[in-house]
Amino acid sequence: MIQQKKYPFLDLADANAPYMDELREAAARVVSSGRYVGGAECELFEKELAAATGTKYAVGVSNGLDALRLILRAYIEMGEMRSGDEVIVPANTYVASVLAISDAGLKPVMVDADIETLNIDTSLLRRAVTPRTRAIMTVHLYGRVAWDDELEAVAREIGLKVIEDNAQAIGARYRGRMTGSLGDAAAFSFYPTKNIGALGDAGAVTTSDERLAATVRALANYGSDRRYHNIYKGFNCRLDPMQAAVLRVKLPHIDEESRRRRELAAIYLKNVQSTPALTMPLLPADPEEHVFHQFVVLAANRASLEEYLKANGIGYDIHYATPPHRQPCYAAEFAGMAFPVTDVIASRCLSLPITRTTSTADAEAIAAILADYKG
Ligand SMILES: *Cc1c(COP(=O)(O)O)cnc(C)c1O
Repeated sequence: MIQQKKYPFLDLADANAPYMDELREAAARVVSSGRYVGGAECELFEKELAAATGTKYAVGVSNGLDALRLILRAYIEMGEMRSGDEVIVPANTYVASVLAISDAGLKPVMVDADIETLNIDTSLLRRAVTPRTRAIMTVHLYGRVAWDDELEAVAREIGLKVIEDNAQAIGARYRGRMTGSLGDAAAFSFYPTKNIGALGDAGAVTTSDERLAATVRALANYGSDRRYHNIYKGFNCRLDPMQAAVLRVKLPHIDEESRRRRELAAIYLKNVQSTPALTMPLLPADPEEHVFHQFVVLAANRASLEEYLKANGIGYDIHYATPPHRQPCYAAEFAGMAFPVTDVIASRCLSLPITRTTSTADAEAIAAILADYKG
């Protein structure tokens, strides 16, 4: 018999349950519309996402990886980048950020992480720049904004594009501005586990650059700017209207979703102090800079923490045990390069339950159990 976890890490069916009536209605609307690719649901979702993000344009696409690929391919088609040009990317990211750069024929240049923010260490940016650097891909990992004055200064002084991988941070704000509107272009993922999740794969690109938006849109639709007229050797990377309709139900709840995640984080942070065995995350000065896609602690001995959590029925996950530069597909390319902080994070990180399906009482119980962890 499989033992049920007392405190599940994430239950997607439970997370979607409050939206059941609206989701049924949205699905029925798509079925009776007779329009199963493109159409009104996609156009309305794009308008609503652009408005929510504070950008001029949003283009719905098939998933987050494709959103990143399309942005880079569009810059190549626009003559802004050429094969072999370099794109700076944090070493501590989900592999998709790096895959998109490789796929476009560009060269990923990794920059190590900051042990406090777990995001790119912007003090290392300048020394990663070469004459071939064209862009910085910043990743708001775990829902924490990866943006500061130094990143802005480097991009401006050298004339680099800034692409946000916003797959994990929809709804976060930096000095009142939404992630997804901070750089030149941004990629969103609506993978079911993300803070706003579709019922399948989905993604989007946001930008206020009209030409970039038009190029991404054409590339995602076989490279055609109008029917049967192909100006690029493109792809089929479209968002489908069923997912657009689902996302239109959930998008208006983004601030409520972020607030609940911050409340749960506050319970953990209030009740559990950092010890040599367990490091709790630090909050940014402005709480709006964090939407806690994940609540990541660092354990000096992760195997022992895992045993302890299992014994206490607490669900957890690990994001990510193997960083991109150590994946088999990248090991040769990055051999001899050291990203020591990223390696430390990969060996110690552990994610605790942080979705709306965790009740306040459950979060308090989890915190009490963690506070007793001695390592
Ligand atoms: C999920 C994710 C992606 C990829 O999104 P998909 O929709 O799964 O393709 C890219 N980057 C980061 C940081 C992610 O978390």
